[in-house]
Amino acid sequence: VPLLRRLIVAAIAVVLPLTLQSSEVYAAGNTGAYSFLSQRSGHSLVARWDPCTPISYRVNTERAPEGSLREVRQAFDRVARATGLSFRYAGKTDVVPGPSPMDYPADTRIVVAWVRPGIDTPAFPSSADIAGYGGAYYQPGYTERGEEALVITAGVVVLNAPMAATMGRGFGAQPGGGTGELLMHELGHAVGLAHPTIDDPAEIMHAELTGKAAAWGAGDLTGLRQVGGDGGCLQLTPPTPQ
Ligand SMILES: [Zn+2]
Repeated sequence: VPLLRRLIVAAIAVVLPLTLQSSEVYAAGNTGAYSFLSQRSGHSLVARWDPCTPISYRVNTERAPEGSLREVRQAFDRVARATGLSFRYAGKTDVVPGPSPMDYPADTRIVVAWVRPGIDTPAFPSSADIAGYGGAYYQPGYTERGEEALVITAGVVVLNAPMAATMGRGFGAQPGGGTGELLMHELGHAVGLAHPTIDDPAEIMHAELTGKAAAWGAGDLTGLRQVGGDGGCLQLTPPTPQ
């Protein structure tokens, strides 16, 4: 049977009108406020990247607000520090992620792109009043010991270009949510996190942008560690018996 049980999960972030948090404490929030894309889709296993292989990404800046590439790299650095995953910037691309990752360059596992809703990709219709979406494609694989696993093989981050142009920039507190918070949120999806079932606006993975300074919450950090390096290497083919 061909191994084509490729699954797509996309989750979305919605921008709410202004919600400001009055103060910031590092890793504020509920340590239980995290969940995983694969489990929210009915799987018992946590889909995650192979932490033993650098994950290459490209950025389509054609519709991006100025300075976005630097913010994307900073957001990836924040995900790397929280997960132990390593990311490699492979350059720019003109790819706009569509309904499948098959159009990615061969060296690319994640594409970050800004689009005009209703114009650049059918995956982002003009009716979608959202700031962006992120997700991960995963398929069955194995741990080093030959146990069943779900391996993320591609990630997607698509952002609303006209909306991003109106948002505050960077990772500080911003009325309505800044572009740094948005990037961290969507990259969280691309490494396998879903919106927490516990309602906790201290988390970056909260379903709505909060406007808080963009620091991972306590639940974010618990979830990010579990999709990170601690779980050991993953592979798509069964390990060879020693
Ligand atoms: Zn989301």
